[in-house]
Amino acid sequence: YEHLSASDPEVFSAISDELRRQRSSIELIASENFVSPAVMEAVGSPLTNKYAEGLPGKRYYGGCWAVDEVENLARERACRLFGAAHANVQPHSGAQANYAALSALAQPGDKIMGMALDNGGHLTHGSPANFSGKLYDVVSYGVDEKTERIDYDAVAAQAQAEKPKVIIAGASAYPRIIDFERFAEIAHSVGAALMVDMAHIAGLVATGRHPSPVPCADVVTTTTHKTLRGPRGGLILSNDDELAKRLDSAVFPGSQGGPLEHVIAGKAVAFGEALAPDFADYADAILVNARALGRGMESHGLRLVSGGTDNHLLLVDLTPAGDVTGRDAERALDEVGITVNKNTIPGEKRSPFVTSGIRVGSAAVTTRGFSEQECERVGELIGEVVGGLDKPDLLDRVSMEVRELLAVHPLYPEL
Ligand code: PLP
Repeated sequence: YEHLSASDPEVFSAISDELRRQRSSIELIASENFVSPAVMEAVGSPLTNKYAEGLPGKRYYGGCWAVDEVENLARERACRLFGAAHANVQPHSGAQANYAALSALAQPGDKIMGMALDNGGHLTHGSPANFSGKLYDVVSYGVDEKTERIDYDAVAAQAQAEKPKVIIAGASAYPRIIDFERFAEIAHSVGAALMVDMAHIAGLVATGRHPSPVPCADVVTTTTHKTLRGPRGGLILSNDDELAKRLDSAVFPGSQGGPLEHVIAGKAVAFGEALAPDFADYADAILVNARALGRGMESHGLRLVSGGTDNHLLLVDLTPAGDVTGRDAERALDEVGITVNKNTIPGEKRSPFVTSGIRVGSAAVTTRGFSEQECERVGELIGEVVGGLDKPDLLDRVSMEVRELLAVHPLYPEL
């Protein structure tokens, strides 16, 4: 950072603060990860200078031969990684990918059916505050009150009654395997298209640690920066030639201008990393560590929504532990150096700003090298903090232990 520190000390100082923050906390936000130095170099490359509207070989600008090569590498690797026939690597984010996918599958005013935000769905799956809720006629499904899992028979009955044009499967806060084949059966039986948003679990899908939606869904969207461990961005996959053309034009010129070729280079590097055999070991460790975090928290009386996890994330109900709110837990955990986010739980009685739960994920700590045993200990520490919000001595002691754990696993030592 020699140039940045000399030319813009203010921005340099803010970036240094963020690096320090990432190094000095146990990162358990389920949607975050740490990219490799190679991904970071690609994202910080001169490709940021290049306009390349269009697709490789069919650009609206000259001088695109090198970025064509990069984008083709990203597309080809994405297809190989997920076993898809077509990939569009240009969406700037997951929300952009979902905007483009929905606009290729439905017209404004058409009915779409997605998982409710307060049951684990994403804003772009039909929230009234989002384009998806404003442009489309939305019906939402949730999880079963008792099992806190998707009730596929209930989804089928709702789809039969509502006859949506598109069904969206996928979630931001659902700790269980999603049965994409069942979703496809339900969607296709009522003449709907199935769009799967696998943003959270893409790294698990890539390695076969979660069943893949690619063979059965009409369109699959994802972010590239969660369990997949790439730069922040989006990706759209499909197997149908005609639909792929509509998806491509829904991205450009439908909803975006010039693609971010520097980020696409970062995606290509990350897909290459995910294709390497050791990424499967990483995915296994994510699963083992998530279960270990869960055991640690349960040992201190916290309740795991749905009884546990099949993936990288846990939704934690704090009500059995003195009815602590998600907001208070998030704040206290922040103070001791453990980063989580407050989250609504199924049947939530509090506002989304307060909540009765937290969401905890294992992707980032696993990248950092935390072991199963250490994750179980982190889970116990979360339980101790939630049970001792008003005990400064306890919080000091936890803080110290957090620092010791972090020191064993330095982050970006080369920076
Ligand atoms: N889809 C799901 C399931 C997500 O969880 C998220 C973000 O957390 C997104 C889409 C949106 O991604 P982005 O923040 O890149 O727009």
